[in-house]
Amino acid sequence: MAELIEFDGKILVGAPKVNLSRRGIISGLAAGTVFPFVSSCTTNPSTGRNQFLLFGDEQIAGMAASAWTDMKTQTPQTSNTALKNRVLNVWSRTARGAGRSNEQWDVAVFDTDDVNAFVMPGNRVGVYRGLAELTENDDQLSSVLGHETGHVAGKHAAERLSITTAAQVGMMAGQIAVGQSETLNKYGAAIGALGGAAVQYGVILPYSRSNELEADRLGVDYMHNAGYDVKQSVRLWELMDANSTGARPVEFMSTHPDPARRAQELRNYINARGYAVM
Ligand SMILES: [Zn+2]
Repeated sequence: MAELIEFDGKILVGAPKVNLSRRGIISGLAAGTVFPFVSSCTTNPSTGRNQFLLFGDEQIAGMAASAWTDMKTQTPQTSNTALKNRVLNVWSRTARGAGRSNEQWDVAVFDTDDVNAFVMPGNRVGVYRGLAELTENDDQLSSVLGHETGHVAGKHAAERLSITTAAQVGMMAGQIAVGQSETLNKYGAAIGALGGAAVQYGVILPYSRSNELEADRLGVDYMHNAGYDVKQSVRLWELMDANSTGARPVEFMSTHPDPARRAQELRNYINARGYAVM
C-alpha cells in the first residue's frame, strides 16, 4: 500500500512504507501496532480539538523521510541566496511565534514557478520560488509559513492518514468504528463516495476544508505572536485569487474553490481575536 504524504491539496503517493494489507492490519492489531479505534481519540493541545489518531508524530515523520529526500534530490533548489535567506529569516521568526523554534526543521526553497508550499511530517517545509515571488512582503510569506506550521500543530497529516487507514481496515474487516469520532464520520462520507478501490490504491483525500481553515487560524496566531501584520494574510488570499484567473494555476488554493470566502473567514477571525480591525 502506498505511503501517503501531506501536501497542500494533494497526497503524494510514495514508496510503500505502511503495510495496509489485510494480513498486515490483522497482525498489526494483534501486535498492538495498529491500535483499536476506540482508544485512539486524543485532544490536541494546540487546538483543543478531539482527534482520531492512529499514528504518532515519530511514526509519521519516518514515513515521510524518503519522500522528502527524493523531493530534494529531484527538484532543484534555488541558488538565489537572497531569496533563500529571506524565506529562512521569515521562517525562524514565524516558528518563534509558533513556539516551535526549539525544534529541528528542514526548510527548502525549490526553484520552480509553482505557486505552492507544503509541509511534510517530520518538520519538513517546502516553499516554491513562484509562491515566494508572488508575496508582496514578509508578512504575506509569514502567513504561508504559519499556515504550514498550523498543519503540523494540528496534526493534520496523521489525522488524514489515520482516517484513511481506518477506512481501509473497516472495508477489509467490516469493523469500522463509525461514531467514534466526529471527524471520522465526516471523512466517512468522502471515503464512501470515493469507493473502496480508490481508497485501497492510495487515493487521495486532500486536506479537509476544516483542516485548511484550522491551519489558517493557527497561522494567523503565529504571525501575530511574531509581530507580523496579520491583515496581510487576507491580502495574500486576494492576490492568490487574482493570480488564479491567469494562465498559471495556483495549486496552493486548489482545494479551495472560493478563496474570497477563505479571506472572509480570516477577516472574521482576525477581528474576533482583536488582532486588528478589518
Ligand atoms: Zn494547507
